[in-house]
Amino acid sequence: MAAVIGSPVDHSLSPVIHNAAFEVSGLDWVYVALPVPRGSGARAVAAMRTLGLAGMSVTTPHKADVIAALDDATDDARRLGAVNCIATDDAGRLIGHNTDGAGFVRGLADDFGFDPRGASCVVLGAGGAARAVILALARAGAARVVVVNRTEERAVAASNLADSAGSVGGPEAIGSADLVVNATSVGMGDGDESLPCDAGLLRPGQIVAELVYQPLETALMRAAGRAGARTANGTSMLVHQGAIAFEHWTGMAAPVEAMADALSHALADRSPRAP
Ligand code: NAP
Repeated sequence: MAAVIGSPVDHSLSPVIHNAAFEVSGLDWVYVALPVPRGSGARAVAAMRTLGLAGMSVTTPHKADVIAALDDATDDARRLGAVNCIATDDAGRLIGHNTDGAGFVRGLADDFGFDPRGASCVVLGAGGAARAVILALARAGAARVVVVNRTEERAVAASNLADSAGSVGGPEAIGSADLVVNATSVGMGDGDESLPCDAGLLRPGQIVAELVYQPLETALMRAAGRAGARTANGTSMLVHQGAIAFEHWTGMAAPVEAMADALSHALADRSPRAP
């Protein structure tokens, strides 16, 4: 059995993705969403030990709190100060991972065959998701990771995650980027007021990736498409961060296609246009 803890967690799409993965892999496992109130993340980790859960996903507001209750965490999870996946190692110890950034990079490879090595990247935003993406792009060999964020202090802290590749910049950096990532929480609305940057800065040949997956196509993606850029929403990141968690829990290759199909059906059911 595996679970996701969070608050709120009732709209989590992780049960859909993971239960599809377990089924198609022939595993007699189930994945459930457990609402856990703020401040109780450590107790949920203790319950994971008691109940012998094989895996746990961790979402807001517990990503930082659970770290102290674990036996260890990966260097990346410690550097980010955030765990989104707990797995048991061969010695039975609970290890905290952060699979968001690696999931994002795998998603780009899957969607576009894009390899960040040597690439010039701009990340809009400096929150939890942006930080995971910034660290993963640097780990994958990006030449430049420019962080553009409303609050400068958070931009500086996030850009430091990319070490010598990282810097803080303004939106003008977008013009020379190979990859532009919108990791702000701006952009879920329909009109141009929902654009996280000036659409005139986008250019042909770029990849413009949203982390948002509801709506599936954002105002930024439409503007990027008009500018001749290639676009992605956040579904690949969601699927691939889950796929990496599945691999930690089961030791098996994740059935990524089945996971993506399950997510796509669930999102279609949630669409305002669905009957
Ligand atoms: P977060 O920690 O709250 O960070 C939000 C970021 O957005 C901050 O950089 C914040 O800037 C910026 N921001 C918020 N309102 C703004 C505004 N009005 N103007 C300019 N900047 C603004 O959120 P998060 O957890 O990183 O999530 C960010 C997005 O990623 C969300 O849309 C979330 O749904 C998505 N996400 C997707 C996945 C996936 O698997 N696809 C995973 C995680 C998150 P300040 O620093 O100035 O406040």
